[in-house]
Amino acid sequence: MKGTIFDIKHYAIHDGPGIRTTVFLKGCPLGCWWCHNPESRSGEVFRYQKEEKVNGKIVEVEETIGQHYTVNQVMKEIEKDALLHEESMGGVTFSGGEPFFQFNFLLQILATCKKNDIHTCVDTTGFVDPEKLKKAAEFTDLFLFDLKHFDDNMHIKYTGVSNKKILDNLRLLDELGKRVEIRYPLIPGINDDESDLLRMLAFLNNLKNKYPVSILPYHKIGSNKYKRFNIEYKMDGIEEPSGEYIEKVKNTIKEAGFEVTIGG
Ligand code: SF4
Repeated sequence: MKGTIFDIKHYAIHDGPGIRTTVFLKGCPLGCWWCHNPESRSGEVFRYQKEEKVNGKIVEVEETIGQHYTVNQVMKEIEKDALLHEESMGGVTFSGGEPFFQFNFLLQILATCKKNDIHTCVDTTGFVDPEKLKKAAEFTDLFLFDLKHFDDNMHIKYTGVSNKKILDNLRLLDELGKRVEIRYPLIPGINDDESDLLRMLAFLNNLKNKYPVSILPYHKIGSNKYKRFNIEYKMDGIEEPSGEYIEKVKNTIKEAGFEVTIGG
């Protein structure tokens, strides 16, 4: 079986505990306005022309986004970092896109990692089939679980999908007693309304387990990709949050009783 991967990052330090190998799988059912990797949304490998300076001249070169890998090929990449994983109590993280978009492939690699005693994280939108989530949970040590907007209408507007399934899936992981870290992308003017944030924190406070929250402040890195890939860019005029503002939001979350970090 082959999967489609658009990047493998070695020595990643923000995608779970310790030093990690992060495998980015292609394909995502959401369309978040602020997405930094719009090229990850399609599950297909694609090619595009880009301009590059070669010997002082601008020339057109073809670049390919995505590559097919077998499970064994991915495992070989992960094994390159085995010593780092061991020394830092790290492991492998599957991200995307949405890793569940290629569920069978994801499940096979997760199972292989567990067979090899490798710590596994899955970074998910939560917008997944609950039965598949349950199956993957058998081989997943930690879920990095995104909560993008607590208001459903706003969630639909800014991501293209409802948050109902996402919240139900978080309840499901809670029932299963899985380790979860909440990831909250902080996007000024889009999902930082204080009453929505407080409702989200109240929801989290009603779960059986208390999960740490990571604030992922919006940044503009990746915005030039929209033009490059001919995708509509809707974030004009949205500014990155200031350090002071991020601290303020951090305090709100902390005061609600959560362990909170900034930036994963
Ligand atoms: S869930 Fe992630 S990959 Fe998918 S559109 Fe949103 S930001 Fe992009």
